[in-house]
Amino acid sequence: MAINQTIQTACPFCGKKNMASMGQSIVSLRLRWYRTTACTSCGNIEEDDSGFPEPKYREQFLEVGGTWRLVIDPKFKVPFLKVIRNCLGLSLAEAAAIRFPHAFMGTKKEVEWLVLLSAAAGVDAKVEQMK
Ligand SMILES: [Zn+2]
Repeated sequence: MAINQTIQTACPFCGKKNMASMGQSIVSLRLRWYRTTACTSCGNIEEDDSGFPEPKYREQFLEVGGTWRLVIDPKFKVPFLKVIRNCLGLSLAEAAAIRFPHAFMGTKKEVEWLVLLSAAAGVDAKVEQMK
């Protein structure tokens, strides 16, 4: 399984095409993201952090990399809700709003990350690309 998913984006400062790349990766069961700008007018900037990228970056990721969803059999509802509350820090009300079997939508790496965490808790989970 590929560890990284990378997309090419425009420079976040001047908008020049394909001058930045952004990636998500899973390192020791932690979700991470990074962005590297190598723009001929703005220079080089690198950022990285754990967790989900900022909403505006995440949007680009979904746009270029596609939206994926996590498929969980409803029979795993209880252990899965424990997993997702833990890793996303959801409140009880937020967890109660999750619908099965399509329990989460996000980037490919985010969904793969949840599959790994689910598997570690004995929950069968699948990744599916949305049309
Ligand atoms: Zn630039």
